[in-house]
Amino acid sequence: MQINGNFLKIQKNYLFSDIAKKVAAYKAANPDADVIRLGIGDVTRPLAPAVIDAMHKAVDEMAREETFMGYPPEWGYDFLKRAINENDFAARGVKLADDEIFVSDGAKSDCGNIGDIFSADNTVAVCDPIYPVYVDTNIMGGRSGDLIDGRWSRFIYMPCTADNGFVPEKPKAHADLIYLCYPNNPTGASITREQLEGWVAFALENGSVILYDAAYEAYITTPGVPHSIYEIEGAKKCAIEFRSFSKTAGFTGTRCAYTIIPHDLKASDGTELNALWARRQATKFNGVSYITQRGAEATFSEEGKRQVRETIDFYHGNADIIYNGLKGLGYEVYGGVDSPYVWLKTPEGLSSWEFFDLLLNEVQVVGTPGAGFGPAGEGYFRLTAFGSRENTRRAVERIAKL
Ligand code: PLP
Repeated sequence: MQINGNFLKIQKNYLFSDIAKKVAAYKAANPDADVIRLGIGDVTRPLAPAVIDAMHKAVDEMAREETFMGYPPEWGYDFLKRAINENDFAARGVKLADDEIFVSDGAKSDCGNIGDIFSADNTVAVCDPIYPVYVDTNIMGGRSGDLIDGRWSRFIYMPCTADNGFVPEKPKAHADLIYLCYPNNPTGASITREQLEGWVAFALENGSVILYDAAYEAYITTPGVPHSIYEIEGAKKCAIEFRSFSKTAGFTGTRCAYTIIPHDLKASDGTELNALWARRQATKFNGVSYITQRGAEATFSEEGKRQVRETIDFYHGNADIIYNGLKGLGYEVYGGVDSPYVWLKTPEGLSSWEFFDLLLNEVQVVGTPGAGFGPAGEGYFRLTAFGSRENTRRAVERIAKL
């Protein structure tokens, strides 16, 4: 028996387990320390009451023989796909067929699994810094080459820096698969319509597929910023979009997301990617639970929309406190406006991990070192708006004491 040797290439320590280890060691040495965690990107507010009601009702349906539901459709129930289509796309002038929507248990799974339908020979372009899942799953899929000086030899790295507003330049070499994530994790940046038009034109010209992660779409507040890549003409021929209920409606633990693959999107030999993904999901995935999909559907009711919006507004309030608080202290800060993430330049030339240690040891605040998201993240640091109001305020007050 031989293993898939690509798994051995992946760096053993996942960013968040490194952080957890450092925090655990600090707590062991300082058992009474009151550590505030603004590191990991998990939400803290409970599910909306409309979601809870819908899920309770669905549980009761499962208890009766006449309404019991067995295996769900592998691609999602029609009721949820219709609600997604009407609210997230038709309402923004984007026309999709329901069978271009694939409901799943997470954008992480979909971003990772999508590689199944692409050849290992494809060249991959990734932003730097980046959500690590795109990189690690392409290493597993055999598209990375070797690690040389902290970079994978077959990846095309697209640096996202303060100079380019965290929207990268187009790659010089040919890329078959281009990962873009806007609003961005970790930088908190959003992309303008003109910039996204440029990317769609580039992908169409070069026969590339854009893998567009819009998991934070619900955080967009700037008028005119596109919520979906399909708002851009031609995108249906060159883009797959990933969406999630996790950060939109607090489903990180409940698990529900969806991916759009338009019928117009074809490989160079004319094969429809939609059909391949349908086949992939039907073979390897048995669908999202009925109870969860009823909960997700409830986020689109009038009541559900209002409640979900209140929670997002709450997190935006935290983002404002972090962004304005740090700016007032003289930090160079980014993001926070169309995103729950604030990205800051570490002070006085400290490395990302040095700043992490300083915050933990001196003021007991935990954030995420930018270097953990890629080489160009060095010298930056991410704070998230997903904490409680009190902890967010206290964290900024503590940082002021540094
Ligand atoms: N995409 C990005 C950019 C994320 O930051 C995250 C979670 O942090 C995900 C996807 C994962 O979403 P899900 O909970 O739907 O798997």
